[in-house]
Order: sequence, then structure tokens, then C-alpha cells
Amino acid sequence: MQVIENKVQLRAALKQARAGGKSVGFVPTMGYLHDGHAALIDRARNENDVAVVSVFVNPTQFGPNEDLAAYPRDAERDLALMRAHGVDLAFFPGVEDLYPPGYTTYVTVEGPMTQTLCGRSRPGHFRGVATIVTKLFHLVAPDRAYFGQKDCQQVAVLQRMVRDLDFDLQIVVCPTVREVDGLAMSSRNVYLSAEQRTQAPRIAQALFEAREMIAKGERRATVLAEYIKKSIATIDSAAIDYVSIADSQTLSDCEMISGEVLIAVAVKIGRTRLIDNIRVEV
Ligand code: AMP
Repeated sequence: MQVIENKVQLRAALKQARAGGKSVGFVPTMGYLHDGHAALIDRARNENDVAVVSVFVNPTQFGPNEDLAAYPRDAERDLALMRAHGVDLAFFPGVEDLYPPGYTTYVTVEGPMTQTLCGRSRPGHFRGVATIVTKLFHLVAPDRAYFGQKDCQQVAVLQRMVRDLDFDLQIVVCPTVREVDGLAMSSRNVYLSAEQRTQAPRIAQALFEAREMIAKGERRATVLAEYIKKSIATIDSAAIDYVSIADSQTLSDCEMISGEVLIAVAVKIGRTRLIDNIRVEV
């Protein structure tokens, strides 16, 4: 595995790695890797000749009062996981490498897709995501890029961006990897106290119970959303940001469950903001 710390080295390494028409699979991450990331890496490894993983805690996608400084980092552990999963190129750029002094160019996906759900409480977040992913796509020029369904709005926004800006690559969406008790794996789970950690799986349980209700015939979005809110409200110091029942492509609200629907939630437990979602098809 080659460890690369700047974009000049990355371009040179990729030129070599790609020789002879080899395909490149890319997994962008913010590090502090867990089994959710590993699943994306395994898929990239299996479906391409060359697997590239980036670790970059992207400052432009954090709001002024968010956890940029506190975001967990452990490069040694990340490198060990990447080696164990057969990564070819590990890209750890510095902030100044990707945002040199005087940087002023941003990518914005307009419309309700970036203003609902997380876009409402995290203004500017998806502009930061679209900008960094555009830059990384230009640098890596992957054939396939791998993203987790866990960040469902990110997936929808990036799929739109790739389509609108004619990126010549395929976005591959991978299922959410969960702990045995159902909690969606996240680098931020490390912030939870022991007591919060025991209660956090209620978020996923509420989503799974909503899926059961739909299987038994419930179609009213308000009834389902109320049920989920009540379940999550039993977690101590939980503050619900949103419970959304929306069309999975456009993210516009649904009144009745029909077709493919996304049930997505964001909850703050103490100071830790967690998101989760399920997709349901009827
Ligand atoms: P992050 O490092 O949190 O920015 O995530 C990097 C990539 O890993 C994103 O595409 C996430 O959606 C994906 N990811 C994070 N957690 C999970 C999970 N539990 N299951 C599947 N993919 C995940």
C-alpha cells in the first residue's frame, strides 16, 4: 500500500497504477474507519483493479458550531484497517493542499434536495460535501466511487451532482453496516457515554418497527413519523432534529407510503448528532 500525502504525489501514483487501462475504485472518507467503511473498501477492492481510499476531515462541510476540531482521528489505526483490506493507495491530504490560501470555488447543488433534512440544520454542509467530492473526483478520476446508504441525503445529492456535471463515473451505494444491537456504525458513536450508547439503538429499532407497521398495512406518513418520534423521545437527553418520510430520489415529503420511500432521522443525544435511515418499498 502506498501512503500519499499530497495531490502531486497522488496524480503521479495514479498514472502508474492505471497503466494498461486498469480500473480505479474510490472510497472517500473522513477517517476513524470502522466496519461500515471497510464494507465500502471491500467492494471497491473486489470490483476494480486499483482501490483508492482518502481520509480527509473536510472543514468546509462543518458549520461554525460543529465538531470539526473534536472529530475523532487515528491515522495509524486507519492505515492498519486499509492494509488489512487490500487498499492500494491511501490518500491523506492536508487542509492546505486541498484548500490553499485564496481558495474561493464551491460547488452547490441547488433546490430542496440540499435544503431539507440535514440541509436545514446544517446550512452549507452539502456545499462543502459537493465541493470536496468534486475535487477528489477530479484528482482520482475513479471509474467507480463508493458511498454508504447511511448518509442517504449525501448519496442523493452526489448522484444529482454527478448527473448534472457529467462526471464520467459510477456511484455505487452500499448498505448501512450496523452494530449487533442495530445502531448504525459511525465514527461519531465514540462520543457517546456508556449510558447513551446503551440507549442509542432505539433509533434503529424505531425505524425497524416503522417498517413492520408498513408491512402490516400502515401507509400514513404522519402516523409512522409520530410513532418514531415517540420511540426516540424515550432516549434520555435526546433532541430530535427531524423524522422525514420522503421520496427516495427527490427527498420531497410523502403523505402516504407508496413506491420507494426513505424514512430518515437525525437525533442529538447530548452533544452527539446521529443520523440513520431505512428504505422501504411498497
Ligand atoms: P465518513 O467517514 O463518515 O464521512 O463516511 C465515509 C463513507 O462511509 C460515506 O460514504 C458514508 O456513507 C460511509 N459510511 C459511514 N458509516 C457507514 C455505515 N455504518 N455503513 C455503510 N457505510 C457507511
